[in-house]
Amino acid sequence: MPLTVKALQKTGPDQPYQVAEIERRDPRADDVVIDIKAAGICHSDIHTIRNEWGEVPFPLTVGHEIAGVVSAVGEDVTEWKVGDRVGVGCMVNSCGECEQCLADQEQDCLRGNVGTYAAKDVDGTITQGGYAQKVVVNERFVCRIPDELDFDVAAPLLCAGITTFAPLDRWGAGETVNGLPKKVAVLGMGGLGHMGVQIAVAMGAEVTVLSRSRKKEQMAMELGALQVLATAEDGFFEEHRGEFDLILNTISADIPLDGYLGLLKPHGVMAVVGAPPNPQQFQMFSLIGGGKVLAGSNIGGIAETQKMLDFCAEHGIGAVIETIGVDEVDSTYDRVVNGEVYFRAVIDTSTFENA
Ligand code: NAP
Ligand code: ZN
Repeated sequence: MPLTVKALQKTGPDQPYQVAEIERRDPRADDVVIDIKAAGICHSDIHTIRNEWGEVPFPLTVGHEIAGVVSAVGEDVTEWKVGDRVGVGCMVNSCGECEQCLADQEQDCLRGNVGTYAAKDVDGTITQGGYAQKVVVNERFVCRIPDELDFDVAAPLLCAGITTFAPLDRWGAGETVNGLPKKVAVLGMGGLGHMGVQIAVAMGAEVTVLSRSRKKEQMAMELGALQVLATAEDGFFEEHRGEFDLILNTISADIPLDGYLGLLKPHGVMAVVGAPPNPQQFQMFSLIGGGKVLAGSNIGGIAETQKMLDFCAEHGIGAVIETIGVDEVDSTYDRVVNGEVYFRAVIDTSTFENA
């Protein structure tokens, strides 16, 4: 018997959220059923459900920052048991056989991973995300949440945490240059950015936040940043030319890429994770001069996600959150887009009970 659970659903991009009953599949032999305790709100949820990245199938439930407790397991599951504290991120399946899956890079599965929501699942149904009471997931796409991390501060790690950890790790944020820490700039201090700051600091980098204003200065410093530079101030791009080894770009909107590439040292790297809806432009000379690298990064693999969760627990890192009820999601979306959420909104799923 499929499970019927409460979930937040939209019937169209401009429709308000409603609490609806949706069906979760009967767990297969290799599935885990998770009682969701907390679900983070990622800007990708907003881009998706507002059709900013293209049309998606409605009715739809989004949410890919999921933390909760295992409440049932399929007969072949050996890794997980009832009561385990677990998380699910942006993917719920992949082929498991291609070069990328075999290299633990399921996010880049050559046959396409199955996204946690709005994706065609292996059985042909459309996946529904984590703004819900429960989810049923293949056991390979579940990670363990260390006991040190509460569910609400852990949920955002499943997307914002891994999406910043993976490129910081890949591009050596923790390495030194001539014996000194790398100078890492985190561009945009939102849900992803504030995780990027904490993770880069814990890796050993000297971290600068590039934010539109100095509004978030004190909080950024409390998270370990050395300084906050306001990108909207006159002369910003000229004054800080050639300063950084690595820029982690988390911006969700259009930006002047040439100016930001100019902030890199020769051979510096801009790792892009922010995914604005519009195409972006830059001069090839912004890369050619100084032999710079413009790289993309897509979440991270499951093993890497586990490594990130353990790293965060070890370093006492969690998301800085604002907890909201299921009736506050529409208004919170507007606040996220306006940069008013410091720094991740997380849905307390116990509020489904009275909804
Ligand atoms: P968020 O919390 O809204 O943060 C985005 C930040 O970008 C804001 O805090 C703001 O920083 C800056 N920003 C917003 N509008 C801007 C504008 N018009 N001009 C300049 N800066 C602006 O979003 P998020 O959840 O961190 O997600 C960030 C982006 O990453 C989204 O596009 C999301 O879809 C994408 N994403 C990608 C992946 C991946 O795998 N690559 C995974 C998750 C999310 P300041 O206020 O500090 O200026
Ligand atoms: Zn996300």
